[in-house]
Amino acid sequence: MLGEAKYLKKERLVELVKGEELLGFHAPTTGGIDKAPGRLKELNCSTGQIFSKNNRQWKARDFYENEISDFQKAADKLDGPIVVHSSYLINLGNPDDEKWKKSVRALIIEIERVDCLSLKDLVLHPGLHVGSGEEAGMKQIIEGLNQALEETAGLDARVSLEVTAGQGSSLGYRFEQLRELKEGVDKPERISYCLDSCHMFSAGYDLSSEKAYEQTMQEVENVLGIEDVKAIHLNDSLNECGSKVDRHADIGEGQIGAEGFRCLMNDKRWGKTPKILETPVEESWRESYGKNLERLRSLKV
Ligand SMILES: [Zn+2]
Ligand SMILES: [Zn+2]
Repeated sequence: MLGEAKYLKKERLVELVKGEELLGFHAPTTGGIDKAPGRLKELNCSTGQIFSKNNRQWKARDFYENEISDFQKAADKLDGPIVVHSSYLINLGNPDDEKWKKSVRALIIEIERVDCLSLKDLVLHPGLHVGSGEEAGMKQIIEGLNQALEETAGLDARVSLEVTAGQGSSLGYRFEQLRELKEGVDKPERISYCLDSCHMFSAGYDLSSEKAYEQTMQEVENVLGIEDVKAIHLNDSLNECGSKVDRHADIGEGQIGAEGFRCLMNDKRWGKTPKILETPVEESWRESYGKNLERLRSLKV
């Protein structure tokens, strides 16, 4: 009897791990980028996200000696990919020429760092038009992407345009805008997409019931396609649907609620897409992410 119980437990574990193949979180890189994959593994994750440099500074430090090779060795032990999130300072929509150029240069360095680490997708917030208007902003962003992709021609790293909440003058809060950016560049094959449940919801794409979830994902499928979405950020939203305010909340504690995440976790369309938590970190990332991972895992059927 005892043997049988053990066997059942083991079976169920295998099944869960299978279903969880591509679940992760934004891993801290304190002490070096090479420390991140181990931290993901520690919480039984197979994918994740990192910053490759300080995300609130323009300057990028050099990698430490062996940091790249140590990172690659550690990342190889994960079953899924690691994506890199670019600096929050980059704004390809900036109408100020000097600031725009600075952003393009920073993006080029970020793309090169992704390539250095043998990674593929660099998540980027498309940009803000800062008063120049949406049309002018979209043009600036396309021009900036073109320059950065041209300067890094030969590398196969992709820029993964992230859907935004539409806060302030930020662009990319409609799926159509993201598609317009991809279709507008000379090398669309080097552009992918990144979804974020909090941003979509704040932007007005409801996810809080099964029906609303299905409607939103139908739009994703029709406008962006499933294949080009290379990561999904899993965050609940502190503010209501359509609020255009980007404030992340713990899973199940925001306005999206557990039902939306149950749909996401069990949606076969996203079976091969990295799902990455960016929920608030209190004192300890282990505790904060651990709690949210546990909630997501409990929603798996
Ligand atoms: Zn982001
Ligand atoms: Zn956000």
